[in-house]
Amino acid sequence: MLKCHDIAHLASDYLERQMSLRARLALALHLLLCGKCRAFIQQLRIALALYPQLKRPVLPPEQAQALTAQVLRKAAEHRAG
Ligand SMILES: [Zn+2]
Repeated sequence: MLKCHDIAHLASDYLERQMSLRARLALALHLLLCGKCRAFIQQLRIALALYPQLKRPVLPPEQAQALTAQVLRKAAEHRAG
């Protein structure tokens, strides 16, 4: 029987379906019996679903550089008084 610390190590393989059927069934059995690991897997599933969106830049590089330069200029002006 898998323990909770085993679930933490196997969680991403489970969600990415990169484990044997036997291992998946063992993990699924643990999830049936353990609410903490069910919550952990659910949170990890949400994080993995959001990850591609997090990798995408919010601003195009040119706009990000312009904004950074503007912030640095304003900070320098603020320091100068
Ligand atoms: Zn557990």
